[in-house]
Amino acid sequence: MINRRKTRPVYVGNVKIGDGAPIVVQSMTDTKTHDIEATLNQINRLAKAGCEIIRVAVPREEDALALQEIVKNSPIPVIGDIHFSPRIAFLSLESGIHGIRLNPGNINDKGKIKEILQECKKKNIAVRLGVNSGSLEERLLEKYGYPSAEALAESALYWSEFFESVGFTNFKVSIKGSDVLQNIKANKIFAEKTDIPLHIGITEAGPAGRGSIKSAVGIGILLYEGIGDTVRVSLTADPEEEIKVVYQILQALDLRRKGVEIVSCPTCGRIEVNLPEVVKKVEEKLEAVDKPLKVAIMGCVVNAIGEAKEADIGLACGNKSAILFKKGVPIKRVSEEEMVEELLNEIQRMDNE
Ligand code: SF4
Repeated sequence: MINRRKTRPVYVGNVKIGDGAPIVVQSMTDTKTHDIEATLNQINRLAKAGCEIIRVAVPREEDALALQEIVKNSPIPVIGDIHFSPRIAFLSLESGIHGIRLNPGNINDKGKIKEILQECKKKNIAVRLGVNSGSLEERLLEKYGYPSAEALAESALYWSEFFESVGFTNFKVSIKGSDVLQNIKANKIFAEKTDIPLHIGITEAGPAGRGSIKSAVGIGILLYEGIGDTVRVSLTADPEEEIKVVYQILQALDLRRKGVEIVSCPTCGRIEVNLPEVVKKVEEKLEAVDKPLKVAIMGCVVNAIGEAKEADIGLACGNKSAILFKKGVPIKRVSEEEMVEELLNEIQRMDNE
């Protein structure tokens, strides 16, 4: 069991973040936000995949003007991602949006930031206070020489105190760097000093394969330490891929369960079936199943009996055949040709139960 850090609640629309709420899964669209149809199509696909809050880029006026329609039709709360421009921020706040993300470091005008926060308070709009290694304030770069973990944490604490000093508390903080160790350290420093909820992730993690590993290590370590109230995995890939990876990280740490967990052996010289092919087919077919199920697919009896007992359903393979287990009990012997279909039929039955 992971002891999660105690944080205060923040609401983005009807989604609660922090204060013991389940860790919230986020992603970001990669469409042009002013292309309302394409953006809404992507939001709908992401929501179906398990995304609970969506962020959209708002670089220009035409994007801010599109928000109203997007917010009205989105099945999940929408956060506008705003950089540099207070004008775009004010325009976005008129749309009914549920949250905005601001990096105060790249607006760097306390008067304007205060005005934005007052407007957010009036309209009950949450803010994500972002600190990124790529947009740290000059004074901290001068003080530390580079965007160190200490510099990132100091920036986040400084702006959090500023937000609170103007009476604004409905915010969470993200401290992101692409360096995993720096990211972990910065979040830990911040987490020890406040109860403000944290949005965690490794920014610009890279393409799907490498980026998922980097994210799993960085996010996984923080989550294991109890840090993190909402997560985004940032990949140079389809955002739907990000959602899958977040859930796999959360599932591995037993923090949230969604869909099928597959336990399969790495295979060795004892193998007598084409196990990689069986696992690939089962994984593809089960992608759409939402029910949390643990499926064990093991190459031989060495570990199969133990794993099958722990799993909801499983295959213990042998010579061109397998024993199909359900809740630890062998229910039938199946040939190599029929094992995928038999397993899927049984899972279908369980899904309907
Ligand atoms: Fe090898 Fe059997 Fe272990 Fe698979 S379960 S790795 S086939 S010993």
